[in-house]
Amino acid sequence: MSEITDTVLVTGGAGFIGGNYVLRAVESGRRVVNLDALTYAGNRATLASVMDRPNHVFVRGRIGDRDLVEELLAVHRPRAVVNFAAETHVDRSIDSPRDFVRTNVVETLELLEAARAYLGTLAAEARGSFRFLHVSTDEVYGSLGEEGLFTEETPYAPNSPYAASKAASDHLVRAYHHTYGLPTLTTNCSNNYGPYQYPEKLIPLMIHRAVRGESLPVYGDGGNVRDWLYVEDHCRAIEAVLERGVPGRVYNVGASCEKTNLEVVRTICRMLDELLPDSPHAPHEELITFVEDRPGHDRRYAMDATRLRTELGWEPGETFESGMAKTVRWYLENRDWCEEVLAGKYSGERLGLMGGS
Ligand code: NAD
Repeated sequence: MSEITDTVLVTGGAGFIGGNYVLRAVESGRRVVNLDALTYAGNRATLASVMDRPNHVFVRGRIGDRDLVEELLAVHRPRAVVNFAAETHVDRSIDSPRDFVRTNVVETLELLEAARAYLGTLAAEARGSFRFLHVSTDEVYGSLGEEGLFTEETPYAPNSPYAASKAASDHLVRAYHHTYGLPTLTTNCSNNYGPYQYPEKLIPLMIHRAVRGESLPVYGDGGNVRDWLYVEDHCRAIEAVLERGVPGRVYNVGASCEKTNLEVVRTICRMLDELLPDSPHAPHEELITFVEDRPGHDRRYAMDATRLRTELGWEPGETFESGMAKTVRWYLENRDWCEEVLAGKYSGERLGLMGGS
């Protein structure tokens, strides 16, 4: 039996939310072992500022690689696993659902198995403080009508292969708590936006296209509603759940910030007009076009985050206006990052208009 260290094993920490989480955690002095497969969505460039820090260990590998994960757990003795690793883009899940089942279901199962084996090596006290936090999405709950909010008790009704694969992983996490006593925590979060998001998702895609004077294609009538959260606020919520959440519990994360896709795109256009008054493409709104809707496109998501707010004292730090202003400015100032990640595989064969979370 051995003790645990203050290390956190983060998976998917070269992606959008995981990358933001790792940057914050490493800056705050926490020791992070960062396991990422570096798929098209994972980028070392995101981690450039922390790559050489002594409290950050980056390992390229898959969560489904049992030998590797067991070795990382045995060597680093982390006090927690935070699982961001996933295939996340809804449009890609429509084209290649198997990739989503492989990573989000089969490989998540392997990660749970590795964590269960690790738990068995811990002394009783260390076992009591170990946590497995699984990061998930509001898309598992399906679509809402005009009224109502998703609560932690809303029955699962996933509508896309992405959502179905995340729902399956959430069920496995739940089962590992109930069956094996793994101290799991699950967070189901609404749509995130902010720095370092792969430019296939709605907000970075629209900024990227608008500054180049390209059309801004919006699915259907643009009336699909998402509940938007600034990525840093999500990272703070994960931290609160990790530190103070009750094992076995699920926490919805969202800022009650419902916007239609069209409102989001218009906000981007307005901000670009202000920041780039001399642009030949202003007014950017004239670039908006409407395209055929995505199959099975959920109409509305909206979260009730009362549990997170009341039990754990979390509140979002940004409004939509302030978070979007930071985001648009970040993408304008970091065009090199966008060009670098787009120089990878993304070929634009199917435009990702509404991100996989
Ligand atoms: P992302 O696509 O930007 O990043 C995913 C990361 O996981 C990438 O770095 C990728 O290389 C890595 N990865 C993929 N498969 C892997 C594997 N088998 N082993 C190891 N690493 C692997 O995703 P994101 O938007 O940052 O989402 C992170 C998590 O948060 C996901 O689980 C997603 O379902 C969830 N989520 C996302 C949002 C959102 O709005 N983006 C909202 C709610 C929940």
